[in-house]
Amino acid sequence: MRTSKVIFVGTAGGRVTTFRLVRRSGGFLIYFGDSRVHVDPGPGAFVYLKEKGIDYTSIDLIVLSHIHLDHTADVNTLIEACTDGGKRRGLALFAPESAVRGEDRVVLPYLLKRLSQIGIIKEGKELSYKGIRVKAIMRHSHHGAETYGLSFNDEVVYLSCAKYEDRMLEVYPRKPKVFIINTTFYSKRPDIDHLSVEEVKELIRVCSAETTVITHFSMEMHQKGPERIAEELSQELGLRVVSAQDGMELEF
Ligand SMILES: [Zn+2]
Ligand SMILES: [Zn+2]
Repeated sequence: MRTSKVIFVGTAGGRVTTFRLVRRSGGFLIYFGDSRVHVDPGPGAFVYLKEKGIDYTSIDLIVLSHIHLDHTADVNTLIEACTDGGKRRGLALFAPESAVRGEDRVVLPYLLKRLSQIGIIKEGKELSYKGIRVKAIMRHSHHGAETYGLSFNDEVVYLSCAKYEDRMLEVYPRKPKVFIINTTFYSKRPDIDHLSVEEVKELIRVCSAETTVITHFSMEMHQKGPERIAEELSQELGLRVVSAQDGMELEF
């Protein structure tokens, strides 16, 4: 049987939990049967994948939601690892233009030739590679960085870092299998472009995913206990909400 699953490589969000290594970082890996996509390979992804026994050369596609280091620190290392130092063809990268060609680009120019395809993410556009379709649902407002919410094969939806906007209630897809939300804070923080539990409740209800996963936790969330918060959300909304843990695997 073809297994589809998400492996949460890391669950840290923002500077403190990530760069004091309170939680692991490194994004997540999705398996659609034999096709594999690594999303937002932040610091440590390279090491943690190896620890999990994942063969780098089995990864087909790397996707970046935006340039911030907690989402991209290991992208260059992974391009080298997944292509076996450039010897293996068959790896693609989908990323916002700013990550590849902008002044603040994070992908080293000399590594671009290792890639079999480079897809530029833009709102409303769909890209595909080896049977993995990636659609940019909307461009987020996130501290000036070009950031996108993404859907993968219409099954896994990823709401990356963002300032809350009501438009999310209209554009985010209904009833996906998995809805991953970077829920960095518990309480609203108007001065910081990250989502909070208070803000995402309605979105979780409206989208009614089979499983909603909150992740990308700040110290505030880490200390409050994301498991308990996810349990409370499940009770209140009557939906399955879980909190990601470092290394967690979720089949869908
Ligand atoms: Zn982030
Ligand atoms: Zn960010």
